[in-house]
Amino acid sequence: MSRGSTTFPALIWLLVLLAVVLCLPLLFLGAIFVLSAFHPDAVAQGKSLPRAAIGGILLLGGLLLAALAVVLARNATRGAGRPGDLSGGVASGQEPPGEINLKALNCPHCGGQVDASTARLNPEGTLTLTCPYCKGSFLIQEEPKW
Ligand SMILES: [Zn+2]
Repeated sequence: MSRGSTTFPALIWLLVLLAVVLCLPLLFLGAIFVLSAFHPDAVAQGKSLPRAAIGGILLLGGLLLAALAVVLARNATRGAGRPGDLSGGVASGQEPPGEINLKALNCPHCGGQVDASTARLNPEGTLTLTCPYCKGSFLIQEEPKW
């Protein structure tokens, strides 16, 4: 885990967890206050309005924290790739316009596999490849399409 190019969203997940943990008691207390506001005793004592107000504020705070948790979680999952996914954050899917056929090529001298991306284009249209094993170079020409 030495990839430090992008910020690992551990801090964001901590905030998400914190928001969820905080929003649950707020919602719970808010629901209790709102419910108790409509209790016959509270209504008789004129306490229903302040209780409903307190309950409403608690519920609102809890909902805001829940929404915050959702937004943070979305950003965290969108911003970083899954562990082991090296394509995360990199614009992928676009293949370079390749005039070179990047199929596996074998060295005619030693039979070793030659990386076609090391090819040098000659003025006559041929390609010079250098074998990484025997250091021998050879020409390839554009193969006719059948
Ligand atoms: Zn070779």
